[in-house]
Amino acid sequence: MSDTTTNTGVLSSLAAQPGGVDIVLDHVTKRYPGQDTAAVEDFSMRVEPGELVMFVGPSGCGKTTTMKMINRIIEPTSGSIRINGDDILSLDGNELRRHIGYVIQQIGLFPHVTIAENIAIVPRLLGWSKARVAERVDELLRTVQLDPGVFANRFPRQLSGGQQQRVGVARALAADPPVMLMDEPFGATDPITREKLQAEFLRLQADIGKTIIFVTHDFEEAIRLGDRIAVLGERSRIEQFDTPARILAAPANDYVRSFIGEGAALKRLALIPVSDARIGAADAGAPPTTIDEAASLREALDALVLTGAPRVNVTRAGSIVGSIDHAAVSAALAGGSDAQGA
Ligand code: ADP
Repeated sequence: MSDTTTNTGVLSSLAAQPGGVDIVLDHVTKRYPGQDTAAVEDFSMRVEPGELVMFVGPSGCGKTTTMKMINRIIEPTSGSIRINGDDILSLDGNELRRHIGYVIQQIGLFPHVTIAENIAIVPRLLGWSKARVAERVDELLRTVQLDPGVFANRFPRQLSGGQQQRVGVARALAADPPVMLMDEPFGATDPITREKLQAEFLRLQADIGKTIIFVTHDFEEAIRLGDRIAVLGERSRIEQFDTPARILAAPANDYVRSFIGEGAALKRLALIPVSDARIGAADAGAPPTTIDEAASLREALDALVLTGAPRVNVTRAGSIVGSIDHAAVSAALAGGSDAQGA
């Protein structure tokens, strides 16, 4: 696995796929020198193009090691890793990393250069023209909701933690890489900033559709962001790999159950839209509080509990289209087509 022949053909195939590619890890093991047990043992997984996969597990279980083998910050001891069908272990590591966005908790902005220069680093390395780099920096700052006129020429220390983290995301996206690796990117921010960054990030991902691996120890974050979640145990063993809804509905074992914690039903409700439930006839006697059909069943339940009414009316684009009651909320949890009614 030490062959590092440069293969620019493969890299250009990566560069040509900004919208996301598949990542396949095949029997990957990492044994650090001098350690008796492997940090990652026989890890196999396929991540689909454009998918956002969360790695969740306790500190020391091997999440970061697994992720860092994908951009070869850490070299696997054995096994193979393919991106877009190409064996990344045959590529030059530095070249590879220019085509994989990387966001870390510590952000890692260079303190002595401006925000614009921080974002421009990889495009410059790739030899983009000055005009193209400037245009891209401007576009990215807007994408992460920072006004270029205000922020481009500031230094990192002149930004709040949340703003710096946004710059970290912008920098990782700079060369429009098909793959993003994110290591606890929002872990150091306060809860309110964190929720805001998560919401922004979800909106962003809906537009850009990158293939993303996102490491977190926060199961709530995994549920909120992930298309699929890999719950990892010791040596990065995959205890369950499935959608948030299916993990919450059917945890594979006690280990996974311990991650979900209390309130699994409420957490599931947060993932199901009102439109998935059995909607009854509109109720003229219902309270003025209404719920949009795109809102979650958790929000619907909140409205039911808050008003104390037997049902609340459901709206679509502001017009009442029906109503929802407690029984419909519970039935939706029972799952699938049964919950849809006739
Ligand atoms: P996580 O990201 O889940 O917290 P890591 O991947 O950082 O876990 O670590 C997995 C295991 O590998 C831990 O037992 C850790 O102590 C060990 N480890 C991590 N980095 C090194 C290293 N450079 N040398 C030796 N052991 C390491």
